[in-house]
Amino acid sequence: MTTRRDFNKTMIKGAGAAALMSTFPLSAACAPQSKKLGVALVGLGSYSTYQLAPALQDTQHCYLTGVVTGTPVKEKQWADKYGIPTDNIYNYDNFDAIADNDDIDIVYVVLPNSMHAEFCIRAAKAGKHVICEKPMAISVKECDDIINACNAAGVKLGVGYRLQSEPYTNEIKRIVREKPFGEVRFVSAEAGYRSRGNPDQWRLNRALAGGGALLNMGVYAIQGAIYGTGQNPISVSAQEFSTDPDYFKDTDESITAQFKFPNGATGSIFTSHSANVNRHYSAFDRGWLELNPANNYGPLAGRLSTGEEIKFTHESQQKLQMDDFARHILEGTPNCAPGEMGKRDMIICEAIYQSIAEGGKTISLDLGRMGIVG
Ligand code: NAD
Repeated sequence: MTTRRDFNKTMIKGAGAAALMSTFPLSAACAPQSKKLGVALVGLGSYSTYQLAPALQDTQHCYLTGVVTGTPVKEKQWADKYGIPTDNIYNYDNFDAIADNDDIDIVYVVLPNSMHAEFCIRAAKAGKHVICEKPMAISVKECDDIINACNAAGVKLGVGYRLQSEPYTNEIKRIVREKPFGEVRFVSAEAGYRSRGNPDQWRLNRALAGGGALLNMGVYAIQGAIYGTGQNPISVSAQEFSTDPDYFKDTDESITAQFKFPNGATGSIFTSHSANVNRHYSAFDRGWLELNPANNYGPLAGRLSTGEEIKFTHESQQKLQMDDFARHILEGTPNCAPGEMGKRDMIICEAIYQSIAEGGKTISLDLGRMGIVG
């Protein structure tokens, strides 16, 4: 039996399409959106297992067809669960041979942060489009290396910022852009959770994570401050708080930072591995908006100063994100989370760490409109 997946694959390759025409409705066979891109996940940890792979079962424009894992036992588990052909299963050593695999169009790197650059660059050199999980890397230099490798290879690059494809976030952007409440004057964004389980996890290891709460959750708060004002900050000053130095030996526990924006607005972010915080607030001349929760997998919830709810039907954010990226490749729609966005956020993270190291000094930022989409 020919499944829809097989059919779409055939459409991508072209060969055999004519033979299948008679068994499928003409409209589906002719429509450009009937192409589906093949995705390989690199790193089969919790995000790939519980979010991305399930989401990729529901996507319209791409599908899960490959995996790259360093854990041999997962090869059979994933092959059995998702029908992944043996030829589309790689390990970290033979990964570069993915260049010869026409089933795989997109490589999605879902490894610890310090491994993003290496695997994104290898994927680009193999001629595959790349999605890099957040934070994009552990330094601005590594972000540049990824961007340059993708440009040199002529492949598309996206960052795994799922909220950029999600309706509540896009409603904030619309309100900021269309100004029904006037000019934005203040934004507050908080993102964090209480981490206490395993002291040996990679997220608490600077070499693997590159930083603590800031790189893990703080990037959501930074993103919120930016889409909640529609501008990049022109300066930042920051403070770090430590209450449990035994557990947080190597990485930052909680950080606050204050931003100034080009229109005179100010912003405040908080991120933590000790407090469950998940909120967005933008204040305008004549009103405000709030999301709470604002940055988890949803359903999100929001309200306006008018008393109205902000409400959208919940859909998997990962599904929306993956379809947006596939449509960017297939149809040239905007890239919702380009590499420049990930690099910009890393520039801000480095400025925050610099400010903390210099006793809260105000650090100037010269970002222009870098990474702002929509
Ligand atoms: P995880 O610990 O559950 O999985 C990490 C995977 O990397 C595992 O399969 C592990 O075997 C593999 N790995 C390879 N080398 C490793 C090493 N030296 N140390 C530890 N693991 C190693 O992590 P995760 O939660 O899946 O996170 C992976 C990436 O995805 C991170 O960059 C994280 O920031 C990102 N992430 C993003 C979101 C989001 O909402 N966009 C959510 C969760 C995680």
